[in-house]
Amino acid sequence: MQKLILSPWSLRVEGFCKEQQGQLEALFSQGNGTLGMRYASEIPCHGRQRDCFVAGVYDAAPGEVGELVNFPDPLGLRVFLDGEELTMEACGVYEAELNLRNGRARRSYRLTARNGKSLTVSAERVIPLNRPRVVAERMIFTPDAPCMLQWQAVIDGNTTNGGTQHWVDGEHRCVPSSGWAIECHTQQSGVAACITVAAKTNAQRSRIFRQRRIVGALFESEGEKPTVLNRYAAVAVCREGMLPVQEAEAEAQAAATAGFDTICAENDTAWTDYWGDADVRLESDEPADQTAIRFALYHLRVMTPQADADVSIAAKGLSGEAYKGHVFWDTEMFLLPAWLVIDPETAKRLLRYRYACLPAAKRSAEAGGYRGAQFPWESAQPEAGDVTPATVEGWVDPATGRAVPILEKTDEIHITADVAYAVWQVWQGTHDEAFMADYGDELLRESARFWASRAQWNEVKQCYDILDVIGPDEYSEHSDNNAYTNWMAHGNLCAALDRKLFSPNEEAQIRKVAEGLALPRANADGVIPQADGWLIQKQLDVSVLRELPGSALAGMDIGQVTHSQVLKQADVVALLTTLPEAFPPEVRASSFDYYEARCLHFSSLSYPAHCLALTRMGQAERAYDFFRRVRRLDLQEGTASSEGIHAAALGGIWQCIVQGFLGLKWQNGTYTLSPALPAAWQRVTLSLPTASGRRLVTVTPEGITVEGKETFK
Ligand code: BGC
Repeated sequence: MQKLILSPWSLRVEGFCKEQQGQLEALFSQGNGTLGMRYASEIPCHGRQRDCFVAGVYDAAPGEVGELVNFPDPLGLRVFLDGEELTMEACGVYEAELNLRNGRARRSYRLTARNGKSLTVSAERVIPLNRPRVVAERMIFTPDAPCMLQWQAVIDGNTTNGGTQHWVDGEHRCVPSSGWAIECHTQQSGVAACITVAAKTNAQRSRIFRQRRIVGALFESEGEKPTVLNRYAAVAVCREGMLPVQEAEAEAQAAATAGFDTICAENDTAWTDYWGDADVRLESDEPADQTAIRFALYHLRVMTPQADADVSIAAKGLSGEAYKGHVFWDTEMFLLPAWLVIDPETAKRLLRYRYACLPAAKRSAEAGGYRGAQFPWESAQPEAGDVTPATVEGWVDPATGRAVPILEKTDEIHITADVAYAVWQVWQGTHDEAFMADYGDELLRESARFWASRAQWNEVKQCYDILDVIGPDEYSEHSDNNAYTNWMAHGNLCAALDRKLFSPNEEAQIRKVAEGLALPRANADGVIPQADGWLIQKQLDVSVLRELPGSALAGMDIGQVTHSQVLKQADVVALLTTLPEAFPPEVRASSFDYYEARCLHFSSLSYPAHCLALTRMGQAERAYDFFRRVRRLDLQEGTASSEGIHAAALGGIWQCIVQGFLGLKWQNGTYTLSPALPAAWQRVTLSLPTASGRRLVTVTPEGITVEGKETFK
């Protein structure tokens, strides 16, 4: 069994378990916002997933939607002891550690060959923050008896995305004493890439090693002295124009010249800078709370692009292939808020990605017969528009025997209002007029135009309806007037009006829709209906469904669920977090209880929303119970995160603490705090922007103190 040990600044795993290696690969995944790699074992192991991604590089197989491409593995390796290939099947003692403070991961393990001789492997890997396209790895091999050791150290171009080969192989180069390279380009999206490796080793002999899609070197050493193999890889991509081959080679060579220790030292400094602004120090009766927020902030940095404004954050960050690396509402609603505090420029850049998506979003609105811009439920490259797959992978409706269509593709339209909500948050948080003039206002205007044309007048009810949608819940399909969607659309229209973005005629029309929009309000029991008719749908025994392994829907008649009062995740509860002021406290309380009792929490986005809603209702202890559940989504043994970390839930950890228990709210270019800590917490300290620059702010049950010091640096 694999044991996960949490410390304030690290995660440690003891013991190797093949069945649970995916969990380790995802939790320990490393990156710098541009390059990301899972922490799959160096030595071959059945079931390992050696993903290497470059943010924003997508490709589509014929007939499929684009997906985040798995790159050729720059650090491919096979090891032979006296001619026998060693695999992780031969692994004995094993321990691994991810240092959250500097993003370095290391592990050591012992492999025993059939002849009884053992090899101790120790490996350390870093994807430096300050060298966005570089990964460096130091491996030391120590045999316990004289033997012949051989290593194939290669770039392995046989990697795929679940069997789909996205790369057309190009030129290979190799000079074993200095390095090797592969050039390739994607099948459909026209991205060219060059993967270059420089190596330094004290192995006794080397020669070129080449196979189909593989190039590198074969190293050999005899005896029992430790052998060191340091590899420095640079991954260069080019979406148009000339591939910067020379730059990539120079970058790998420069890294090799600097050496592993220097690279680590520079990287450590860059992480120290990040933690200076980002760290949240938490004194809690439950030490895992501190690890959880640092783990969340670690991955936040790893998954967030820092330079390109045409790239955003995928639902699994750069830690796995699930959700095809697509961008959802997760970014704006769960991840952007933390950046608004840590580095507002990054928050703005994430919205500039949506700005880059505007031309496609406008085309999409037009194709549906609407005005303005409709953002896709799932997106990839800005110009690609909607990339939501047509059907759910690996899921067949037992009633029809057919693949289940993803209706979210056309119906989960609240994302357009979510983007606008994030623009409004950034505006409230920064009052940056230049950002609004260049990007924010257009996003607000075009999204408001979409809603004004999507809503339709209902002569009988004398209001504007938004019909046939899927709300965040996702189990209820073809909903009319979904509370979350309508209220958020209303917020979008009001924000655009507030910014005075329209001609008088258009303003009158937008105002008419905003004022006439159907806004679901509490019934006699104080419950906001999730959608028209939702509260009279059939009741199911949620306690039974909650016990079902995996997705409760698999194996069930889908119609049964979509017409029942059962939720996949927070819907009205999510609304209570975004627009709490819209509802009186008693309505919030009864609505929360009603929906929580019917919620399966089968999305990792659900617990953070519930925690946040409770903090806003002044129920800190109940909120803390949900916080613990958020914390455990990733930080657990088992296989829950094998497909990748739960990015939105990690943002949710920050939100629960800062927007929840500390009660941070943005308004008029600044923010307020209204803390209510759970009993388990004695103190929270973080760096917040104030009128006189950043300041360390400490919250205890006794109150708030602002220190003279700016950051943790
Ligand atoms: C959730 C969505 C979420 C997506 C990506 C789905 O399972 O229902 O709300 O955006 O996962 O995280």
